[in-house]
Amino acid sequence: MRTQVAIIGAGPAGLMLGHLLHLSNIDSIIIENRAKDYVIERVRAGVLEQGTVDLMIASGVGDRLKRDGLRHDGVWLAFNGERHRIDFLGLTGKSVVVYGQNEVVKDFIAAREASERPLHFEVSDVRVRDVESARPKVCLQKDDDEHEIVCDFIAGCDGFHGICRPAFPSGFLQCYEKDYPFAWLGILATAPPSSEELVYALHERGFALYSMRSARVTRLYLRCAPDEKISEWPDDRIWEELQTRLGTKDGWRINRGTITQKAVTPMRGFVADPMRFGNLFLAGDAAHIVPPTGAKGLNLAAADVRFLTHALVAYYKTGSSDELNNYSAKCLKRVWKAQRFSWWMTSMLHRFGTANDFDYRRQIAELDYLTGSRAAMTSLAENYVGLPIE
Ligand SMILES: Cc1cc2nc3c(=O)[nH]c(=O)nc-3n(C[C@H](O)[C@H](O)[C@H](O)COP(=O)(O)OP(=O)(O)OC[C@H]3O[C@@H](n4cnc5c(N)ncnc54)[C@H](O)[C@@H]3O)c2cc1C
Repeated sequence: MRTQVAIIGAGPAGLMLGHLLHLSNIDSIIIENRAKDYVIERVRAGVLEQGTVDLMIASGVGDRLKRDGLRHDGVWLAFNGERHRIDFLGLTGKSVVVYGQNEVVKDFIAAREASERPLHFEVSDVRVRDVESARPKVCLQKDDDEHEIVCDFIAGCDGFHGICRPAFPSGFLQCYEKDYPFAWLGILATAPPSSEELVYALHERGFALYSMRSARVTRLYLRCAPDEKISEWPDDRIWEELQTRLGTKDGWRINRGTITQKAVTPMRGFVADPMRFGNLFLAGDAAHIVPPTGAKGLNLAAADVRFLTHALVAYYKTGSSDELNNYSAKCLKRVWKAQRFSWWMTSMLHRFGTANDFDYRRQIAELDYLTGSRAAMTSLAENYVGLPIE
């Protein structure tokens, strides 16, 4: 098989890249080791920055998003039993849209299938070769047969546990890591949201987040231990704990419903630098992950893909590699700003380790200052809706 760009991974990064390249008449082959249904049903992120929304609409995959996406003009911060609103629209003129990652993936798979360009699910034993040469190769197994893709470039969009980043020569990458001493127990429930916007809560018993995926489905999170056993969290215990942490003096209550999914999500910050080796380029979670508090993971993947598309289009149109040479530095500048914001939101809203009255009171003071200062609220809002894509 021969193509211009071999894309490894059909998550948001790989699918978006394939679609944007298609619109620029650049050939690609996308390979994915999971089954199509599994990829579509995987529930993960759900908050799209305005730049990600604009990208989907401008590239012709925004019809369902425009119809079903929930526009949010702000979020709530809850502490000391009170809720305080951060008005994104009033402070920045921008909003975010709640639209599940699985819906994003569904839209891009449909666009890929309509383009009739190759997208192969359930491949295995994927390896990259000769990435420093002008003819890099991707080897894989499909239906017990061995295949080889010869290409100009490989896009490693295979997530944090993929094979592309480990294929960089040892010592070439500088990896920066931050482990957080807690995780999130996340649930998906069939229950109409009782708040129109997300609620982030700092409570003595720990962090909680109230969010939603649609007018009928809520997505809720509780801070828990990284090795928390889900078996110790029967549904009633989850609902009671959520109500305790999210409850406010105004009597606001969360709607309960059938819990359809429970999972523990680790909290980690990670950045690989550079995001390129030879003609192998990393994009999305393959190169960096952020704790989900700032809702940045999927949006960072979209920004990487936009930069990479731009660089590949410039290369094929003009023969110039300048943009490709700038790709890693351009992405990392944005990635580090998102790491900073995600770390700041996480540190402000989570109790670290054992109860420490000094830190808890300092955190309450920070939230009190933040929600009383237009300058501080603007800073949160402009990061949350997404910094400009330069
Ligand atoms: C468990 C989990 C929960 C999350 N929850 C949230 C959340 O609540 N809020 C939030 O904002 N963000 C969340 N995120 C982050 C967000 O989902 C990611 O940032 C986003 O998925 C990044 O997209 P991606 O395409 O770069 O990577 P991925 O979505 O990970 O896609 C990578 C793809 O590559 C495939 N792949 C892997 N290895 C290979 C291989 N060898 N060959 C071929 N294909 C391969 C994978 O199957 C996958 O389909 C979560 C992430 C995870 C992992």
